[in-house]
Amino acid sequence: NQSLHELDPDVAAAVDAELHRQQSTLEMIASENFAPVAVLEAQGSVLTNKYAEGYPGRRYYGGCEHVDVIEQLAIDRIKELFGAEHANVQPHSGAQANAAAMFALLSPGDTILGLNLAHGGHLTHGMKINFSGKLYNVAAYHVDEQTGQVDMDQVERLAKEHRPKLIIAGWSAYPRQLDFAAFRRIADEVGAYLMVDMAHFAGLVAAGLHPNPVPHAHIVTTTTHKTLGGPRGGVILCTAELAKKINSAVFPGQQGGPLEHVIAAKAVSFKVAASEDFKERQQRTLAGAKILAERLSAADVAEVGVSVLSGGTDVHLVLVDLRNSELDGRQAEDRLHEVGITVNRNAIPNDPRPPMVTSGLRIGTPALATRGFQAEDFIEVADIIAEALKPSYDAEALKARVTALADKHPLYPGLK
Ligand code: PLP
Repeated sequence: NQSLHELDPDVAAAVDAELHRQQSTLEMIASENFAPVAVLEAQGSVLTNKYAEGYPGRRYYGGCEHVDVIEQLAIDRIKELFGAEHANVQPHSGAQANAAAMFALLSPGDTILGLNLAHGGHLTHGMKINFSGKLYNVAAYHVDEQTGQVDMDQVERLAKEHRPKLIIAGWSAYPRQLDFAAFRRIADEVGAYLMVDMAHFAGLVAAGLHPNPVPHAHIVTTTTHKTLGGPRGGVILCTAELAKKINSAVFPGQQGGPLEHVIAAKAVSFKVAASEDFKERQQRTLAGAKILAERLSAADVAEVGVSVLSGGTDVHLVLVDLRNSELDGRQAEDRLHEVGITVNRNAIPNDPRPPMVTSGLRIGTPALATRGFQAEDFIEVADIIAEALKPSYDAEALKARVTALADKHPLYPGLK
């Protein structure tokens, strides 16, 4: 019964240091967020001890009466949140949700059509050395060079040419909304299933601030830890017709025992996501991203060769184009790290630099919105970023401004 600090001071020290890092810097990785303490509590609970292969009411282990209640709550809450006919809350991650969804619908060698990785798609949407690229025959659509946006005429052309069995709509790095109705029309035309991977924008959908893909898609997958703000994990939503296929693809198809401690944390986060506070937070997330896009498009920023892809954003992130800057993606990421802002470098469409270097940055606002950032704070953080990307920047002064913002919005004040 020793505490973590008593039993393993080495791990405890690194956890403490990570808490301090999160509290004292500004987290702007678009796929990250801060889970509420109640979510951390559920995830750190005794549920971690329980085996529960199967589904609520139909388990292969005894003693599942309490985890049944928890998993059913998670299922009911997320169905309600997105208006879905069926939910599977067991995927351990977004990648596993996608693997299970494809396993349910496809056979090896079938064709899938997804957004190219370098144009904002995810690894699981058909990247060459991912399972999706190895098991399936991949065709990919791209964003238009001029507009930076997905061109539905190209999607339709490629769908007719390649006759995919599955079309994937969704992204990891794209600043605009997709036209789900148009994707479904194309899928129907070529006899394909439509899967929407809403991992990034699920929180915006839950808050009613982004179109809901559920009415349009056969299957919708998501992570629960990005804009949705819950524990790390995945979920699959689908029509009643596909429910059985999806359940058996997750277990026993892809996974063994579900992580009931994570499922409990998912249930808590779905309750939070249905609240008015959550909606208000998502509004600040969107407003913050628009402020970033505007201020990173200003004349003094353009002068140093920095611009915003697609000219703005409709979601929780902006993509910064550094092709004309003296900084490459890695240098810009390091520069922001130096002043206390965490972002990730990101390949941009037709990037002239290799993937480990890149010519772009992906900057997101969900974590700062969770921290309580208001419009005036996002203006300040956008200006700090703009200054940091200029050749003559004062690292110490910018770091002090970052610290002032971090102190203004304490994170996990009860934890130390
Ligand atoms: N799908 C999309 C669109 C993503 O952006 C990500 C993660 O970045 C995933 C799936 C995979 O999620 P995970 O990292 O939980 O496997």
